Amino acid sequence: MRKSQSAALRAPRRDSRAPRHLRLVSRAPALDVDQTVALRRPTAPLHCLRPQLIRDTASRFVAGFAGDVHYAVKCNPEPAVLRALADGGVTHFDVASLAEIALVRRIAPAARLAFMHPVKPREAIVEAYGRFGVRDFSLDSQAELAKILEETGQARDLGLHIRIALPKGTALYDLSGKFGADAEAAVALLQAARPVAQRLGVCFHVGSQCMEPAAYGAALARAAAIVRAAGVTLDVLDVGGGFPVSYPDLTPPPLSDYFAAIEAGVAAMDLAVRPRLWCEPGRALVAAGTSVVVKVLARRGNELFINDGVYGSLSDAGAPGFRFPARLVRPDAASSAEAQPFVLFGPTCDSADRMAGPFLVAGDVGEGDWIEIGQLGAYGVALATAFNGFDGREQAEVSDAPLLATPGHGIL
Ligand SMILES: *Cc1c(COP(=O)(O)O)cnc(C)c1O
Repeated sequence: MRKSQSAALRAPRRDSRAPRHLRLVSRAPALDVDQTVALRRPTAPLHCLRPQLIRDTASRFVAGFAGDVHYAVKCNPEPAVLRALADGGVTHFDVASLAEIALVRRIAPAARLAFMHPVKPREAIVEAYGRFGVRDFSLDSQAELAKILEETGQARDLGLHIRIALPKGTALYDLSGKFGADAEAAVALLQAARPVAQRLGVCFHVGSQCMEPAAYGAALARAAAIVRAAGVTLDVLDVGGGFPVSYPDLTPPPLSDYFAAIEAGVAAMDLAVRPRLWCEPGRALVAAGTSVVVKVLARRGNELFINDGVYGSLSDAGAPGFRFPARLVRPDAASSAEAQPFVLFGPTCDSADRMAGPFLVAGDVGEGDWIEIGQLGAYGVALATAFNGFDGREQAEVSDAPLLATPGHGIL
């Protein structure tokens, strides 16, 4: 075998760490969803991206938050989404894996990355620091502190952010169960990290889709007690993600209430030197930016069998029980039927592939129709799998407003 041939055989066909991304089939932002469906008659779930909306949402958030806005990449890592966020003025990204780091570096080379996973593989720390220039890391244990220092060669230019545990709150998605040092451990960690950190921070996450601005105030009070007990100067205060958006029957207080609660919470900490504020929103920046057009394969009474489901982009409509806005898309003949509640079934053979909703769609919906499901830009495609062979999703850019407005996001 010739050398070049054997090398070709050994070479991976693509970077095995690169996540799969949606294939863009339509970049005609002048078209709306109905026109795109009429033109393409999509047989696979069609992700309808609103780049302008994401850009506007990002620039409002960046303008309203008194600190550095880090986009939490896990929420939606699509390159077109990252580009729209960067266009909107997001220059900081919260990453949790080498694949996310490489992705953001490729799309926004000058962005600042913070590696905010409290339990990192050693080789990821080495590469993040040495190859990708990441300097900020979160941690919640002494073992992780030692690991970071060892794998960066006892670097002196680190930002070390102590993730503190919060009691289970009222957020729809509880994130208190896995990460975070308790108060006593956090005090010890702050004291251990202070002499070796160029920037010392505290971070937390109140839980995703947090409906109460007061949750941030409570978390900041907890942080204040820990910092006071540690007797250290704090450089960075990272209030995490959790900022909510609207879902049917779930309208959060306006974003400005959250910013005000954070501002009041920081003031009440009464620190000698005000730390730099960070936040890590995911959902709030991108949820409204994508809807998914699905096709109806069968109707049985109030049950619709569609070509996307809980193993696709509708994971949160399954066990977590999120409701999403929906509407009939029928290019050939508009429907005047009143909306009725429907239960949806996804395409896989698993009976867990069921979405109770209810989803409100025109009552005469049937096989061959399309349905647009909104607010799927957050934790939609990011959680989709190829289970049972269903991974043929595509993406189109559209000009539509979101299906649902969120107070304070300034759109609609
Ligand atoms: C998931 C996550 C976020 C984003 O949370 P949202 O609720 O989507 O805003 C931010 N920070 C960390 C550490 C996370 O794990």
